[in-house]
Amino acid sequence: MNGINQQRGEALRKELNISTFQNLLELFPFRHIDKTKVDKIATLSPSVEYAYVAGRLMSKEIIGENRSRRLVAKIKDDTGILELVWFRGINWVDKFLQLGQAYLIFGRLTFFMNQPQVAHPEIEIYNPQNAKGKSSWEPVYPGTEKLKAKGITGSNLGKFTQALLQQLSAKDIPENLPDSILEKYKLMPRYTAYQQIHFPQSLQHYQMAVRRLKFDELFFAQIRVQLIKLERHRFSKGYPFTKLGDLFNDFYNNHLPFSLTNAQKNVIKEIRKDVGTGRQMNRLLQGDVGSGKTIVALLSMLMAADNFSEEKQAPFQSVLMAPTEILARQHYENIKELLEGLPVEIALLTGSTKIKIRRQVLEKAADGSLHILIGTHAVIEEKVQFKNLGFAVVDEQHKFGVAQRAKLWKKNDLPPHILVMTATPIPRTLALTAYGDLDYSVMDELPPGRKPIETVHRNERHRPQVMDFIRGQIEEGRQAYIIYPLIEESSVLDYENLMKGYEEVKSFFPEPLFYISMVHGKLPADQKETNMNRFVRNNTQIMVSTTVIEVGVNVPNASVMVIESAEKFGLSQLHQLRGRVGRGAEKSYCILLTGNKVSNDAKERLQIMVATNDGFKIAEKDLEIRGPGDIDGTRQSGEMLFKLASIVNDKPILEVAKLEVEKILEVDPDITLPENERIKIFLHTAQTKTKWGKIA
Ligand code: ADP
Ligand code: MG
Repeated sequence: MNGINQQRGEALRKELNISTFQNLLELFPFRHIDKTKVDKIATLSPSVEYAYVAGRLMSKEIIGENRSRRLVAKIKDDTGILELVWFRGINWVDKFLQLGQAYLIFGRLTFFMNQPQVAHPEIEIYNPQNAKGKSSWEPVYPGTEKLKAKGITGSNLGKFTQALLQQLSAKDIPENLPDSILEKYKLMPRYTAYQQIHFPQSLQHYQMAVRRLKFDELFFAQIRVQLIKLERHRFSKGYPFTKLGDLFNDFYNNHLPFSLTNAQKNVIKEIRKDVGTGRQMNRLLQGDVGSGKTIVALLSMLMAADNFSEEKQAPFQSVLMAPTEILARQHYENIKELLEGLPVEIALLTGSTKIKIRRQVLEKAADGSLHILIGTHAVIEEKVQFKNLGFAVVDEQHKFGVAQRAKLWKKNDLPPHILVMTATPIPRTLALTAYGDLDYSVMDELPPGRKPIETVHRNERHRPQVMDFIRGQIEEGRQAYIIYPLIEESSVLDYENLMKGYEEVKSFFPEPLFYISMVHGKLPADQKETNMNRFVRNNTQIMVSTTVIEVGVNVPNASVMVIESAEKFGLSQLHQLRGRVGRGAEKSYCILLTGNKVSNDAKERLQIMVATNDGFKIAEKDLEIRGPGDIDGTRQSGEMLFKLASIVNDKPILEVAKLEVEKILEVDPDITLPENERIKIFLHTAQTKTKWGKIA
């Protein structure tokens, strides 16, 4: 391309990842400035990002030695003086600048000793004509500071793009959406949108262009995700569980200790429908902490046990995987109790199961007499062979890798149905874009009678009052958690903190009046378990712990959750921890303890925690603060990397795009109808990366 030599091409590729004309076209300006109106120098203030002024050159001077050698020039208009600085290309600029000449200056504004300054400005000789002739909205592109050093200015980029747009016709940027959708949502044609986003006629045109191109991104991301899902639904065969049998019914009618919430009932219906179809279920169940996911898992596993494989001459078996030993044991004990009196064989298998027991468990899994196996990662190891595995539950999935889940698939001739359960609320928008390959259920209802947890933020100074408060709760028969951050599993310092904390808590709560359990990752498994169990049985009143208890444990009598150094935790982790209390009939409290110095970000997190108990709101905030790549339990997905759209701010567009895609695929799942021709062509051609060739 004219004006882009090898060297400039290299710079564009390196700095902005631009190597094709399409890349160039898709480097969208992040703002526009009105270049028909120059600013008066006196109006420049630290809140102004870019200076665009006209003035005469008063002075220029090369100062400093070696690295600090620079050219400083002063430009004056009728209101003030602006300083210009160059650190590179000094000799060339020195020759170009003529004292007394009028110049147009554009660049990022900084202040140095209260004096407005622009480093490496774009500069051209001013005559009133050349200002007027310009389009009134000039694009400002990202990343141009770095490129300037390589001789590419922002206005160069604008010129390249303009030249490119002049060469391209509507044929080169063909429409990719059906007319019906363009009309329904009043979307600008695609070709026009590319022109208007760079060189808009008006602010309104710019906004329409942005909306159009965001719609494109979200619409096609949805199509891709939904096509994958359709494909899976069509081709992934699974075991059909066609009946609800005796075990399920007996349990449901005679053993269920409470009536299910509507949310639980709905999810069970969804699961039942899924497993009855003859294709493999892959379902993500999201339910806030305490929403009662375990019982859903249990009912599903009973469904499996009620169904019989003629081929294997055995009922279908299930596994339930938990991320920690403590949690696996809790599930096991809880489920064993619930199933009492029913002819269901269940077993626990973890890393610390004794060899003799392990051998028995493996035997029963292999001969098919075991219905339900509960455990940690241990249950998916190669050595664990099932006669007829039909259903797998993965609890708190963000602790499990995708690879581990994949192991499950090979445990039977056809892959077992998979139910992934997580308490980490996944913001709806993220679920819509990132979890395309999983079906998705939400339980947005807590069992009745739960009292909201009262959350407060206290600092170091209030420690004695906090301890008094805990004492008061213990005297009323309650129990308390005190959690210390564990930034790194191996960090010695973190353990020292924990130990110091433990000693301190002991000094407030001396034996034999009080007993304290302590659990952390470095304890041997059996000791962890003993300590945990003492707390579960209310033999100890306080649990001092790292975040190993983050997920899952259920001690309804605990009513206080103290989180030490709460500023070090992320939002979703704080919410998870808080969810350990508020499980019984008593009112519960969460106390976030911090030092005196807390960053603004941390302050914001703490305020959100104090303000709401709603896991969904917290997840949305988390997404807003941290961005999608970072959320626990979410995969980094290509689908999430949008150039324009934001899954936080563009929810309304996302929702309609999803709706339209669903409508289209319902009628035309293979995209063969003439009215969807544009979509088909676009999906096909979007693969070819080097559209319109290389830039240099
Ligand atoms: P989570 O979704 O966090 O895994 P659990 O399955 O551990 O939640 O359930 C939390 C608590 O709520 C348990 O004590 C469980 O027995 C109880 N529970 C679950 N469902 C109901 C319900 N429908 N009514 C009353 N209590 C319930
Ligand atoms: Mg749970």
